[in-house]
Amino acid sequence: MSPADKENPLIVTKISPVTEIEPFPFEPVPHAGMHEGLVLKVHSGQFIVHADADKASQPHTLHCTLRGNLKKKFTYSSSGSQPRRVTRAKQPRHADVVAVGDRVRYTTEDEQTGVIEEVLPRTTRFARSAFRGREQTLVTNLDQLVIVFACVEPNPDLWRIDRWIVAAESNGLEPLIIANKRDRTDEATFQERFEEYARIGYRVIATSAKQTIGITELRAALRGRVSAFTGPSGVGKSSLLNSVQPELKLDTGEIGLVTFKGRHTTTVRELIPLETGGWVADTPGLRNLELLAMSREELLEGFIEFAAALETPCRFRNCIHENEPGCSLKAAVANGQISQRRYDSFLLLARELEAGR
Ligand code: GDP
Ligand code: ZN
Repeated sequence: MSPADKENPLIVTKISPVTEIEPFPFEPVPHAGMHEGLVLKVHSGQFIVHADADKASQPHTLHCTLRGNLKKKFTYSSSGSQPRRVTRAKQPRHADVVAVGDRVRYTTEDEQTGVIEEVLPRTTRFARSAFRGREQTLVTNLDQLVIVFACVEPNPDLWRIDRWIVAAESNGLEPLIIANKRDRTDEATFQERFEEYARIGYRVIATSAKQTIGITELRAALRGRVSAFTGPSGVGKSSLLNSVQPELKLDTGEIGLVTFKGRHTTTVRELIPLETGGWVADTPGLRNLELLAMSREELLEGFIEFAAALETPCRFRNCIHENEPGCSLKAAVANGQISQRRYDSFLLLARELEAGR
């Protein structure tokens, strides 16, 4: 864990409803001078936007600023009168208005600069609780969460994998599980540790960044999608990304490039284009996860194989699936339909959640 991660324990929350961003008082109408693009990087009020129009030709990025009215969060009068009146204009932090991964409409000033006029609705939003419980949006519109663990060195803590799966599921992201350092272990150990996830229905790719195992498969899984890598340090995330695309040079710590290894990484977040199409989010805050802020019911939904068992209601409507008689979940564990280990993981995470309240 880097010092920055220690200072900022991470809480990955559920996606906020898209209505979080109030409609602007005067909605810009898309017109000839308006373009659409993807926000690749946010830094000190500057936004690097990838222009959609140039997808087919040269990759083209612009430095954008934010239209003044986007910088405020408006509260409207509740009376039915038309037009609505702005009663309050709050100044939120930039990250809350436009974040890495956002799709935006912008106008251009010249070839290299533009102004963001509108943020399009988000499909997903990953946030963490930063300073004084304030949420900080890390990345939006992700398609999948690539959960990287090593087969050995370090041995995987399976409940940590479960925790990441819950984080993905509760954010509407597809989890992809990577079992790296496959070269350091035998088939039996790999199966023993990761086979369970495949049985539940998750995709597991065994990789070795050292011996180039599974890299083609990983590359294919990233193609055309927006992915974020996560997992403990030392499992090989940087090595894997370097194998996927050697010129990323993740170890070099070049300023403005990729920051998995960088020190001053807490504010730098970006989407990195993949040659094969698709993007990888370099979001340092996503590497560690302390706690998920969610209810026990929401937690249950993150254990997808529990749903079948819970179709038979427990005897008590308010069953918390721990010590109650007539619990469908415990019955499913007893008859082997649900693994004891996943059930234990569920209890562990439930307690962790409740302790964090
Ligand atoms: P990160 O902290 O997750 O980004 O991990 P790194 O990519 O820095 O890798 C941590 C260590 O594991 C480095 O010494 C790598 O050389 C080593 N490593 C990474 N991938 C593999 C692998 O597939 N097999 C083996 N044997 N070592 C690996
Ligand atoms: Zn129950």
